[in-house]
Amino acid sequence: MSVFTAARPSATLWIVATPIGNLEDIAPRAVRVLRQAAVIAAEDTRHSARLTRPLGIDTPMLSLHEHNEQARTEQLLARLADGDDVALISDAGTPLISDPGFVLVRAVRRAGFPIQSVPGPCAAIAALSIAGLPSDRFVFEGFLPAKATPRAARLAELAAETRTLVFYESSHRIGKCVADMARVFGAERQITLCRELTKLHEQSVSLSAEAIGEWLLADDNHRRGEFVLVVAGAPVRQETTPSLDVDALLAELLAITGTRPAAKIVARLTGMPRNEAYARALEMASH
Ligand code: SAM
Repeated sequence: MSVFTAARPSATLWIVATPIGNLEDIAPRAVRVLRQAAVIAAEDTRHSARLTRPLGIDTPMLSLHEHNEQARTEQLLARLADGDDVALISDAGTPLISDPGFVLVRAVRRAGFPIQSVPGPCAAIAALSIAGLPSDRFVFEGFLPAKATPRAARLAELAAETRTLVFYESSHRIGKCVADMARVFGAERQITLCRELTKLHEQSVSLSAEAIGEWLLADDNHRRGEFVLVVAGAPVRQETTPSLDVDALLAELLAITGTRPAAKIVARLTGMPRNEAYARALEMASH
């Protein structure tokens, strides 16, 4: 239980998304909320001033980053208790997505203050939306471990994942990361690499893991900037049901229908090739 109670119900923590490159992507509602808040908590206040100053936002800012988030959380809870609206932004994109803010949001929620989002840019979602890979289900993995051994171990854990995978990567490790993916996921695994999204030198290429590695080596500029890797999931394995079950199913079906429809149903239900199911149905029907 928290000692803080809301002085007035309107004291709200606003989680505000900011551009991932192109400053035109700031939402009008984000500008209004940032103007009206009593304080903006920003990962790097000098960096964020480059966004806020030209927009005429003169709300006081204080830093909130991974090294001071706990202490800032106490301060910001006190501000909310005083009735002040607080806005949280990060250097780029949506706060909390591979960025600070979780400690604050959890504490504010536990303390019972309202939290509202002003959604907007997020590199992972922008990349997924242009990757040309299945987007109905996906896994956001964020950054892989920086060191080679834990990175390979994490990739091995993900090798059989059938959903599309989304990774963040920096220019320092992009080459090694793609090489590891080709080794662990297989050279043929499809990857869409998105570089410098929404910026002047934006590029996206969709190739096999091996070919993405070659593309990165082909030009020094290809390894510069910020990256999202959208990786195709592993192929879904069609498990065939043990033959005993197939036989039992066929026996039931053959009692009510012919060999062809029975084989068709068994093939559809078990993943068994239709000609095999038909051969087995013929064999059983002849006994
Ligand atoms: N919170 C941010 C978001 O909503 O996307 C992500 C912050 S995380 C610290 C920074 C990483 O996001 C970069 O290393 C890169 O992987 C990815 N990223 C951010 N902006 C990007 C851009 N314009 N193009 C490609 N990747 C980007």
